[in-house]
Parts: sequence; structure tokens; C-alpha cells
Amino acid sequence: MRPLSTTQLLSLWEQGLTQPLAQWALLVLAAACPETPVELLGELSVGARDGRILTLREWTFGPHLACLATCPACGDKLELTFQVADIRAIPATETAEYALAHEGYDVRFRLPNSLDVTAVTDDRDPNDNRHLLFQRCLIDARHDGVTITAATLPEPVVEAIIAQMATADPQADVQLALDCPACHHHWPAPFDIITFFWTEINTWAYRVLHEVHLLASAYGWSEAEIIALTPWRRRFYLEMVRP
Ligand SMILES: [Zn+2]
Repeated sequence: MRPLSTTQLLSLWEQGLTQPLAQWALLVLAAACPETPVELLGELSVGARDGRILTLREWTFGPHLACLATCPACGDKLELTFQVADIRAIPATETAEYALAHEGYDVRFRLPNSLDVTAVTDDRDPNDNRHLLFQRCLIDARHDGVTITAATLPEPVVEAIIAQMATADPQADVQLALDCPACHHHWPAPFDIITFFWTEINTWAYRVLHEVHLLASAYGWSEAEIIALTPWRRRFYLEMVRP
């Protein structure tokens, strides 16, 4: 994996405007890992994918993260700042297949990956999506030795499998432990690095393209010439141009 160039980031920003985020995350990985076939990137577990995106985010914008949250109890706005290291989970040893034996049920399954996530669509009922995702990850299910379908697995077994998936892939479900200074309410808030990185790239792209516009208008340089400037030279010329 290698850092993303300014040109690649701008190209990814454009692609992100018209792609679902799960698909966009795959494009980001493909740009950063040209040596890995895209099918293999799609088969990375969601946590392995998010771990790589987190590293790319650190290489692009540094180790500090900042975002806003709203207290669900009093509605107060919280400014959160934390480090990449704070949300970096220690990856468990990942295997292609996991097994669970629970009350006479024997199940073999794998972890959800990007291909599974892109297969579920936003316009479907969330319960249907959960079922589809689960069904895709199920390799084999038996009750007292007889093969059964995903739909006939009782809910406690499904929950036990989902819990085992979460333990095996901790980077897939990052929760921030938040405290409201106004009302002292405590709550866990999910943190999604894909949404976070996309939002940052979107803001960054608007700023860069605005700078391109200012310099191109003043000096007649092309977009490629302006983007090729080092950040220091770009800042210098912007200071000359801005009133
Ligand atoms: Zn509060």
C-alpha cells in the first residue's frame, strides 16, 4: 500500500460523488494498492478494509481526528478530538473460516467483506439486508447433523455468530465512549472511518479546486501545473494573489 497523490485524491473525490460509500472505499484501496488484484481487496474483511483506510487517512491528513457529536440526552454539541491510535483495534488472527457449536447447532461461517457490504442496498429493508449479509457469510449450518438454511437458525445462534464475528474483526465496529460535559450522560457512538475520510476529502477537494481557480485566474497556469506545485509554493503564490 502506498500514500495517495493529490491527483489520485481528486480523482477519488470525483468518483465518490456518484458511488455508494462501500464501493468508493474499494476504489480508494485499489488506488493505494495497485499491486493487489481488486477481487482480493474486495474479499478483505470489513475490519481489514477499515484498518487500511485508517492508515491511508493518517498518511493523507495526519494522526489527529476531529468531529462533532450530539448528546442524545440533552442535545448539546460535543467537539471530539482523538488520535488514529485511539481507534486502531488490535487485529485478531484472521482465518478464512470460523466455527460455532451452540445447543446442537454446528455452523461454519466467514467474516463479512466489502463484496458483501456492496451487495446490500440502501433501498432494501434493514432486516432484509441483515439477513442477506448473514446468509452470504454462512458456509454451512447443521442441526443434529442435518443441513439447515440460514433462515431456520434460531435467533440466539444468529446472535452468537454475530458476536463471534465482531470479536474476530474488531476494527469493523469502532465505538467511541462519549461523555456529555453538560448533563454527564455516557453513551457509545459508532465511528465509521469510511464516512469520516470521505467527508474530509470532500471538504479538502473544494478547498484545493478553489485554490486552483485563484491561481489559474491570476497566472494562467493549468490545473495540472498548479497541483504539481509543492504545498509551500502554492501557499506562497496564494498569498501573493489574495488581497
Ligand atoms: Zn448531554
